Amino acid sequence: MAEPPRPGPTEDADQHRIAAELADIGYCLPGSVTKRQLRCGKPGCACKADPPVLHGPYRQWSRKIGGKTVSRWLSGDQVERYEAWFANAKRARDLLTELEALSLRIAERTEGWDPQPAPTGHRARSGDRGHTDTGPSPQGKRRAPAPRSRRTTGL
Ligand SMILES: [Zn+2]
Repeated sequence: MAEPPRPGPTEDADQHRIAAELADIGYCLPGSVTKRQLRCGKPGCACKADPPVLHGPYRQWSRKIGGKTVSRWLSGDQVERYEAWFANAKRARDLLTELEALSLRIAERTEGWDPQPAPTGHRARSGDRGHTDTGPSPQGKRRAPAPRSRRTTGL
């Protein structure tokens, strides 16, 4: 039977502190709000002058849905209304990151694992360990070339 990992006393204290803070956080809105200044399409507008006087600032709320970024414009009132919720979400993300780092440290110590350094780029593939793709075999996942070549061009 597998024995449970054994966190030290300071690690336990950290975990309790993080959990207590997370419990108190309240509502969280995802994404981030950025200020944007824009140019319009009106000819002769001050935003086209030299130097330009841009419109705004406007607040744009951006977040990811299914890997795609979606945005919404917010009024000053809306920004104010939800400011704390955006801040809460950021705090929650920071706390979760801290909790994961803490847990990772304990797991690495328990298992005697070397820490894994972060990859330095997409091409960090100096294959000194003969590391190959560990993913599932492509069999069955391979997509047959589409026979309907007429319809392969995008819109
Ligand atoms: Zn303009």
